[in-house]
Amino acid sequence: MRSRIGVLLLAVSVSAASSAGEWIADTQAIMGTRVHVEVYHDDAALARSAIAAVMADMRRIDASMSPYIEASELSMMNREAATHAVTVSPELFGLLQRSLEFSVVTDGAFDVTFASAGRYYDYRASIAPDAATLEATLPAIDYRHLELIEPNLVRYHHPAVYVDLGGIAKGYAVDRGIAILQAHGIVEGIVEAGGDSRIIGDRHGRPWNVGVKDPRKDGAMAVLLPLANTAVSTSGDYERYFEKDGVRYHHIIDPDTGDSARAVRSVTILGPEATMTDALSTSVFVLGVEKGIELIDEHFPGVDAIVIDGDGRMHYSANLEPLR
Ligand code: AMP
Ligand code: MG
Repeated sequence: MRSRIGVLLLAVSVSAASSAGEWIADTQAIMGTRVHVEVYHDDAALARSAIAAVMADMRRIDASMSPYIEASELSMMNREAATHAVTVSPELFGLLQRSLEFSVVTDGAFDVTFASAGRYYDYRASIAPDAATLEATLPAIDYRHLELIEPNLVRYHHPAVYVDLGGIAKGYAVDRGIAILQAHGIVEGIVEAGGDSRIIGDRHGRPWNVGVKDPRKDGAMAVLLPLANTAVSTSGDYERYFEKDGVRYHHIIDPDTGDSARAVRSVTILGPEATMTDALSTSVFVLGVEKGIELIDEHFPGVDAIVIDGDGRMHYSANLEPLR
């Protein structure tokens, strides 16, 4: 973490004429979630325009990658890629490549084709797909059906494949937001999109306190993490769900079954960038305590995991050994 003195010197050198800086924040509803951006700068007008640029970029990403917007590039791809190779933007192609990398390293726990069956859940209306729908769509869940042909062609090799980037796109949008802030010369700030956040610098000499929600107690925190210079994502079974006959149906799907993953209640991942922490929080949620923590310990040095299991017990990756 940078020292407070270093931060103050930097602020002075950026704009010697103005007095002390201030925190500027904005919150908007974008991508079906709460987007919050907060930055420190001594030029409030610059801070505001940086935040506005982040919000505009989030809206742009939503318009291109939302499965709920018929005119989005993602929807176009979903309509056509099973019949012919479709040209997509370098941005969408790149995020699909990242997604496939996570599919490979997680042995398919992270799989954007989960939505081939996952699209038939309606959490607001308490609807789960019936057995016949599951049986027909389960074979379409397999990232290997997704062929990416450089530089920007996508082809699906099963007629029922449907892609949803909900497990990685918010993290990607957060990383883009941070890059936009940095391009404006901002060195202290936070970008949050629902459960995915990234912090640059610290809270002007102090850490940000990011809470991990108690999965079964509304409004309560399981743990408070003092953080600086990191991305952090939480996936929980309490975010979007309904209960039927005592069973919780929620939005994180086990690609092997097409059913909600029920081994754990929440997963928090800390790492260098939000695209990664977003994908990994969903992945570890599907993998469960043992396999999930093993994935982080073996393949992601410098990444931390906090898992709350089905009994409410906390588990930590090896890097967080002192918390165990
Ligand atoms: P998060 O809250 O970041 O874990 O993201 C949950 C979202 O990821 C869901 O709403 C789905 O859009 C998507 N998703 C669900 N299951 C999977 C999976 N097995 N692999 C990839 N994405 C998934
Ligand atoms: Mg995630």
